[in-house]
Amino acid sequence: MAYLPGSGVLIMELDVCPICRKQSGEGPLVGPVIFVNELVSVTHRPAGPAGYVFIESRRHVPYLDELTDDEAAAIGRVRSALARGLRAELDVEFVHAQVSGRGVAHFHEHVFVRHTGTPDEIDWCQQWPDAPLGDIDDLAQRLARHLA
Ligand SMILES: [Zn+2]
Repeated sequence: MAYLPGSGVLIMELDVCPICRKQSGEGPLVGPVIFVNELVSVTHRPAGPAGYVFIESRRHVPYLDELTDDEAAAIGRVRSALARGLRAELDVEFVHAQVSGRGVAHFHEHVFVRHTGTPDEIDWCQQWPDAPLGDIDDLAQRLARHLA
């Protein structure tokens, strides 16, 4: 990894950015595609419990404040539709959305459910190890209908 000198800002080159690689169908992050257009990509996490989805900018934009107005609007519309879909397709208490950006410098938003029955001691941003796994490919297809 490389940092912009003196700034602590991570520079991700297109050929090494794991999210750019993912969007071209390569690397360990590739998961079932729920929705994609020229501005935004929505995919389910490739493994783990059902209901953990990533919204990503198609353009290599490092951080939230660098999205164009069109990208921000598209992401907002997709987030709301996705939340409605997750609530309709799974038995959940909440749908959470989080942008942290500390790991990979390509805009991505985590949208994830809190399954019904999650113990109180599991904080909102933690994953319940006993959450239902489900058929992620099937769920991605069902969620796609909510974003069409
Ligand atoms: Zn990228």
